[in-house]
Amino acid sequence: MKPKIWLSSPHMGGNEEKYVKEAFDTNWIAPLGPNVVSFETDLEKYLDEDVFVASLSSGTSALHLALILADVQNDDGVLCQSMTFSASANPIVYQGATPIFIDSEQQTWNMCPNALKEAIKDQISKGKKPKAIIVVHLYGMPAKMDEITKIAKKHEIILIEDAAEALGSKYKDQRCGTFGDFAILSFNGNKIITTSGGGAIVTKSKALKEKAIFLATQARDAAPHYQHSEIGYNYRMSNVLAGIGRGQMEVIDKHIGLRRSMNTFYKDIFKNIEGVRVFYELNQDYFSNHWLSCIVIDKTVTGFSREDLRLHLLKHNIESRPLWKPMHLQPVFKKASYYGGNISENLFEQGLCLPSGSNLGNREKAIIRKTILEYINH
Ligand SMILES: *Cc1c(COP(=O)(O)O)cnc(C)c1O
Repeated sequence: MKPKIWLSSPHMGGNEEKYVKEAFDTNWIAPLGPNVVSFETDLEKYLDEDVFVASLSSGTSALHLALILADVQNDDGVLCQSMTFSASANPIVYQGATPIFIDSEQQTWNMCPNALKEAIKDQISKGKKPKAIIVVHLYGMPAKMDEITKIAKKHEIILIEDAAEALGSKYKDQRCGTFGDFAILSFNGNKIITTSGGGAIVTKSKALKEKAIFLATQARDAAPHYQHSEIGYNYRMSNVLAGIGRGQMEVIDKHIGLRRSMNTFYKDIFKNIEGVRVFYELNQDYFSNHWLSCIVIDKTVTGFSREDLRLHLLKHNIESRPLWKPMHLQPVFKKASYYGGNISENLFEQGLCLPSGSNLGNREKAIIRKTILEYINH
């Protein structure tokens, strides 16, 4: 069997081990220390707006803390993009709140501003003004942030950006993760940069960053003994892992360039193939890190489905994956409210994510091209 070609695998830059070794050499083997502080500074500089970053154990824990800081409580409603990974929605339930799912629009595959408006109007008419909005930049593609921010401002609803897949992406030249009242990032093994596992919360003030760190370190009051006036969490990032993050920040833009060239590679493969559409930016307002490159297959034109192509690739040891299955179609959320049409559902049925790692070389690309074209022309 040929070696497996992965959808998105970790890609080290070179200096990660140096920073990890520093942690060992100085015995900062703890969920605090110089790597954690430096990694946060790197991220704050990179995001390039007046934001404050706290690094945490995962993107999921970051979203949980964002909801707590947004004062989301038992029985509150939270509006959440339906087409996403379950981690965008699960923390709503951790808080005892109710997720309300919103369809996507066709151009960015992210939260549809019209469906969002409709949901807010309907919820308010029922006397239940939603407490927060979670918008996702799926696969690195920025959502329609002008419209979404305007709606959130107009109704004074807290906006949380799930930028887990979108570090380095920009909308109108502003980085994803700096639009909302809060944003979250993920450094899981398959993301644009990785700390093996990890995440961060992005806030708009130093006080909120400090509050996030306080909650993430068991909410200890200022006292020599252990004293607590609030419920705390153990969500801080390890200083060992933050060392990996520091090394990754040195190569992030290079790796985004390579991910983007994967997108160009697929555009070229499918350029003359009717019924297959490669997903890319609508216009110059959008700059995607192209974390994953995706295609949409119209079976009525091609004669094959996304599942047919996925199984063919699998046979050749090439990993691909259907687009995210919308949350309103998930068994665990079957009772949740949903606003919108069938855009996300159709994307799920027709869409496929293709190998997109920044570490795919010419050898892998040649295999991918040959395997795809062989199948289409068979
Ligand atoms: C990966 C991901 C998360 C969760 O991040 P973890 O670090 O794995 O907890 C949340 N939302 C989206 C959209 C993701 O892709």
